[in-house]
Amino acid sequence: MNDDIRDALSMSYDEWLSWVTGVLKEPRFRADQLCQWVYGKKILDCHSMTNLSKELRDRIACESLVKIPVQIRDLKSKDGTRKFLWQMEDGCRVESVLLDHSSHTTACVSCQVGCPLGCVFCATGKAGYTRDLTAGEIIGQFLVMEQRLGKNINNIVFMGMGEPLLNVENVFKSIRILNHPKMRNLGGRHITLSTSGVVPGIRDLADFEIPVRLSVSLHAPNDALRGKLMPINKKYPLSTLIEAMHYYKKRSGERITIEYVIMDGVNDDPSLAFEMAALLDGLGVYVNIISYNSVSGGTMKRPPEGKIKAFCAALTELSIEHEVRREKGTDIMAACGQLAAQQ
Ligand code: SAH
Ligand code: SF4
Repeated sequence: MNDDIRDALSMSYDEWLSWVTGVLKEPRFRADQLCQWVYGKKILDCHSMTNLSKELRDRIACESLVKIPVQIRDLKSKDGTRKFLWQMEDGCRVESVLLDHSSHTTACVSCQVGCPLGCVFCATGKAGYTRDLTAGEIIGQFLVMEQRLGKNINNIVFMGMGEPLLNVENVFKSIRILNHPKMRNLGGRHITLSTSGVVPGIRDLADFEIPVRLSVSLHAPNDALRGKLMPINKKYPLSTLIEAMHYYKKRSGERITIEYVIMDGVNDDPSLAFEMAALLDGLGVYVNIISYNSVSGGTMKRPPEGKIKAFCAALTELSIEHEVRREKGTDIMAACGQLAAQQ
């Protein structure tokens, strides 16, 4: 680690400890105090950390303690959803969404600037890929949203821009930091990661020490159709994906959620529900049907209500538990698949 901690939000608890004792030459409990200010009170300016001496605050300030994403925009939907546009130090921009359900709040964060996977229905995929976000840039989105909200957010979902399992190192590090009892202390059950099906990453997640929830974006139950919608299916076809899901389930004991973006005339035929049931046999999944959200330049359409109902009726007949995800924030382009960080 560098002596100058310009990326404090990327630091694990052990890195805080060694910086506090090694660089600041302070006792270990100062690391707990600093983490409490940052992760508990969301105070990111060390001059406001009142239980530290003035001399220590000045020394920490020289080290420029916490670097956070700069807020460019905060849009509010009529349903209460908020969409934030952030700028990182190098000028890259990403979006996050804050969902306010009456009983709980959920932050949807980005993990990459753009996405390299190019799913045909997704605005992020259309924007191309620039780079991975650091652990600190991921955590920064979450902490600043908590600051703006004025209270702790209950859940974090990695469902914003990018593919979390193509940025495993930084995403897992951000989860370790958020989960650590001396830091944000957010339970694994409150953390969900959504993947388009990066098989080695699913295996890594199964072996990860923190039991976080997994959602898999399926969208089609056979390789021919899935390959047309999601180029990643060519690299990791369904047989390998299903195998990895069984491995995750066995290792973690957690139930997997399947995301199925339903598109008119593309994947809404009830016969596909039967194919899906056969494919997922033995996994005991929960299916989230997401009605397609329009994206600029997209050619797909959302199916009429009746078709969605017919698809769901087939799932019910097959005893597959499911729900149609309530859509949030479509009026501000904050719904699933609509994030693109346009200026
Ligand atoms: N890259 C990850 C996570 C981010 S996308 C993944 O693909 O799973 C989050 C969810 O939004 C995914 O299930 C994705 O398939 C879905 N999505 C993408 N474009 C969409 C659109 N136009 N309408 C509805 N959902 C969409
Ligand atoms: Fe990337 Fe997910 Fe969008 Fe596909 S759906 S392009 S994997 S962000």
